[in-house]
Amino acid sequence: MAPITKECDYLVIGGGSGGLASARRASGQWGAKTIAVESNRLGGTCVNVGCVPKKVTWNAATIAETLHEAKAYGFSIKETAPFDWKTFKHKRDAYVERLNGIYAKNLDNDHVEWLHGRAHLLSKNEAEVIFDDGSKETIRAKKILLATGGHPNVPKVPGSELGITSDGFFDLERRPEKVALVGAGYIAVEMAGMFHHLGSETHLFIRHDKFLRNFDPMIQDKIVSEYERQGIIIHRNSSQSKVEKHSENDGWLKLHYSDSETKSGTLDIDCLLWAIGRNPEVEDLGLEKAGVKQNERGQIIADEYQDTNVDGIYSLGDVCGKIELTPVAIAAGRQLANRLFGGPDFKSAKLDYTNIPSVVFAHPEVGSIGMTEPEAREKYGDNVKVYKTGFTAMYYAMMEPDEKAPSSYKLICAGAEKKVVGLHILGSGCSEMLQGFGVAVKMGATKKDFDSCVAIHPTSAEELVTLK
Ligand SMILES: Cc1cc2nc3c(=O)[nH]c(=O)nc-3n(C[C@H](O)[C@H](O)[C@H](O)COP(=O)(O)OP(=O)(O)OC[C@H]3O[C@@H](n4cnc5c(N)ncnc54)[C@H](O)[C@@H]3O)c2cc1C
Repeated sequence: MAPITKECDYLVIGGGSGGLASARRASGQWGAKTIAVESNRLGGTCVNVGCVPKKVTWNAATIAETLHEAKAYGFSIKETAPFDWKTFKHKRDAYVERLNGIYAKNLDNDHVEWLHGRAHLLSKNEAEVIFDDGSKETIRAKKILLATGGHPNVPKVPGSELGITSDGFFDLERRPEKVALVGAGYIAVEMAGMFHHLGSETHLFIRHDKFLRNFDPMIQDKIVSEYERQGIIIHRNSSQSKVEKHSENDGWLKLHYSDSETKSGTLDIDCLLWAIGRNPEVEDLGLEKAGVKQNERGQIIADEYQDTNVDGIYSLGDVCGKIELTPVAIAAGRQLANRLFGGPDFKSAKLDYTNIPSVVFAHPEVGSIGMTEPEAREKYGDNVKVYKTGFTAMYYAMMEPDEKAPSSYKLICAGAEKKVVGLHILGSGCSEMLQGFGVAVKMGATKKDFDSCVAIHPTSAEELVTLK
């Protein structure tokens, strides 16, 4: 073990959304001597291989979709405008790099000392950092935060290493001709939508007969049928048994699979993307040395205050696996720093994990907050009233019937006062729309409150305040 070279109040392991937010709050606002350690690129998953490059690519896919639709509005542009994937990719990389620099500057501004290296616990208040050149440093800290995030899972299927994951999506230098995605969560669904709209033949392999299975049934039904209408090929009840390279070594793969239609099929593809879930990044973190407990999935167990079972060690974000979203990690990180270093006013500060809005950047977008209808019925029994609407947004008025995408909204109310306990929306513009409605739901709005808000016309959002 290297001798102790540094001491601090707060050691943050992991320079992603949650870790950096907590470190900056602890040091910048409360003056705690803080060290943050990051083994890869500052900003973690969200900035480098998650939300940010994903949303930029979603924007590109949305432009492609709009170009296709422009003809209906009288524009005589090519419906399949050529898309220069490589130039786009490099511009996107440059944007992410700029963000990495901004993150570094923000840490400096907040007087957080940050180290580029990989850290592991030696005890409940000591950690060793191994730098890129192999040198080591031992840090003693009064408090330690574990915010090491997660990484994509790859199945144990022969040849599975020939596929990529969401990380590899951002390394693609060209548009695949024909892509297979395996997975039914939001990452698979978003990436399938982007590939499709950017012009790849897209196959989505799901284990059951629907995807986004933890969303309200209305969302599941609508998004599945909409993806099929658009031409995404969905392989239901599927499994994969083998992946092999083409004998010509031309970069193409052969995926062996079964699904509801085929007992043993093969599909030739030039890109295979596994999106079957994420594992916590804990392998070499030394949790056992400090006695930090994990659950059966390997995630670190932390309570609502982000306390682990070890006094002085805290954890949050994806490594705990509670709600794996950037703003959740950021908010938890800030609240924790407030509680640990903010004095008596903040002694019970914690993140409220209820009614957290979430969005899927599918085509069309999906937004959701609160309970699904089955969850509400289980909790409130017959005391639930559901309001639903399905319509075609005015944007599609100029298009042929088979070119129109659906919009579907559902409001779930409970109790005599009809408090809104769930809100689920699918359609164009939903991702931007949800934030405002999220405030209302968080404040405890009732159906009457929704009805009392005068509609904005003509919009899609007005449908939510005129539900019958
Ligand atoms: C493709 C994709 C799209 C997504 N889209 C969205 C979205 O649109 N909206 C949204 O809210 N969320 C989205 N997410 C989820 C979001 O990215 C995560 O919830 C968020 O990044 C979690 O933050 P975190 O701080 O817990 O972990 P991370 O951001 O993963 O940060 C953990 C950091 O710890 C570092 N690390 C790990 N081990 C060590 C160690 N031993 N020593 C030093 N450093 C270490 C890692 O290198 C990493 O940088 C997306 C995720 C993916 C994969």
